[in-house]
Amino acid sequence: MSEPLYLAPRLESRLAALLDSPAFLHSLVTALGTPLNVVLPDQIADNVRRFQEVYARHRLAGRISFAHKANRSSALVRRLAAVAPARPGAGTAAVGIDVASLGELQHALGAGFTPERITATGPKDPAFLWLAARTGVTVCVDSPAELTALARLVERHSLPRTAVMPRLAEFAASSGFSPSGIRTLARRSRFGTPSDEAGALLDLAEKHRDSIELTGVSYHLDTMAVSEKAAALETSVKVLDECRRRGLRPRAVDIGGGFGVDYLADGAQWETYTTELTRALLGRRAPLTWEGHGYGLRAENGTLRGALGVYPGHRPVAGPRYLDELLAQTAPSLGRPLATLLLENLYDLDTEPGRALADQCGITLAQVLEVREAAGGELLVRLGANARDVGLEDHGLLVDPVLVSRRKRPSDGNGPAAAYLLGNLCLESDLISRRLVFLPRAPRPGDLLAFVNTAGYFMDFTADHAMRQPIARKVAAYRADGAADWNWCLDEQYWPHLGAGEDTGEDAGEGIGTDLGGAL
Ligand SMILES: *Cc1c(COP(=O)(O)O)cnc(C)c1O
Repeated sequence: MSEPLYLAPRLESRLAALLDSPAFLHSLVTALGTPLNVVLPDQIADNVRRFQEVYARHRLAGRISFAHKANRSSALVRRLAAVAPARPGAGTAAVGIDVASLGELQHALGAGFTPERITATGPKDPAFLWLAARTGVTVCVDSPAELTALARLVERHSLPRTAVMPRLAEFAASSGFSPSGIRTLARRSRFGTPSDEAGALLDLAEKHRDSIELTGVSYHLDTMAVSEKAAALETSVKVLDECRRRGLRPRAVDIGGGFGVDYLADGAQWETYTTELTRALLGRRAPLTWEGHGYGLRAENGTLRGALGVYPGHRPVAGPRYLDELLAQTAPSLGRPLATLLLENLYDLDTEPGRALADQCGITLAQVLEVREAAGGELLVRLGANARDVGLEDHGLLVDPVLVSRRKRPSDGNGPAAAYLLGNLCLESDLISRRLVFLPRAPRPGDLLAFVNTAGYFMDFTADHAMRQPIARKVAAYRADGAADWNWCLDEQYWPHLGAGEDTGEDAGEGIGTDLGGAL
């Protein structure tokens, strides 16, 4: 085999400790089957505190709302609901939740989130709107039509006056003209109202002010570009100013999510891997992918075409750091840092991180069922899980699983092994990885592969009962303060009184700050 090309996952201390407990993980799979999802509720509480620290640094107030759609877990949502209100110095941001369906709204209410901590976004049906208005949740309306429908619903059913934060979209990428004089095109979205049509929304907010209260504006951009987000934030502040001129009393701008996660431990591995992948696609080295799969790239007459469509696995500026960087950006036309702009106007900042709050919050375990050697010498490793259970490939996230041996002292065998990971569906395309995964040794039946950091979108977003295969059970794992031993329960059995003790808002537990703490 050629030199192994590892893509080692980034592990903070809590997740590392979990993976370092093979007997515990094996007993869970023995009891509950493969695949199995494990979530770490105390980690999400640590993550939210890191976001609060960024708010504190910029002296901003507002709300950090977990985008529920990233994970269906009850344990994570209940644990977040229990995060104590911030103390002075720990950040003045409250903790909330962003729900995108009737089911998520019911779940959030049942997990202990009171309505003033809940924001409803996404595609809405009348029942979702009704329950949101009935309970007093803030609604991010998508369009003038939705605003009107909500106002009518409130009037018709004598519901309480409902807080709305209309969602804006399609901001010009540079809020103005580019140096070449060409207007930079706005990113298109199926959600929200184009920002240059905000006036129509404000007209309606004034007209329906007896039934709805405009408390701000919102957006959520599907981009990683800080400059685009800076332009959107500035435009939103200008819309809030216009609201004030009209006598409305907006409180906040909600900038959505998309802060990202750093999945890989080592940037150099990522550089080497992507370079070697392009070489392999050009036929300059042994293949690294199944049937020449190129993740969007393809070789044509000796040159590469297309674009590598994968998640940038190594992303040092992600999560709270990304928010920090965004707030420090200079507003493109008003010319002051965005955080200053918010402060001057006494606007709150609301955020909706999904993936970033789920960072390091869980793993997906799959048992090795069969190991075969293919003609090229690589291994075909069949797992008790499929590509819908572990959505990494679907999202273009290239990161290695961790091998959790069944035996206490696995004999080393022949050293590193390269493997394709095959799923449990009777389907040619069911590969959990279409790239060769390098492992420190050849796995054996009975071993586990732990897919790390799957809690944000990779755990249950696409899982289904195709071929009557089981979908993963989900458990919550937690430790008493300072204890080495793990406790666990089914995800739906978890309530915060089981966890690491009282949430005092003090620096909690291990894991906090291991990777970015001091550096932030
Ligand atoms: C999906 C979504 C989010 C969360 O996005 P992440 O990339 O997971 O941070 C936030 N807000 C809205 C409206 C969304 O649709």
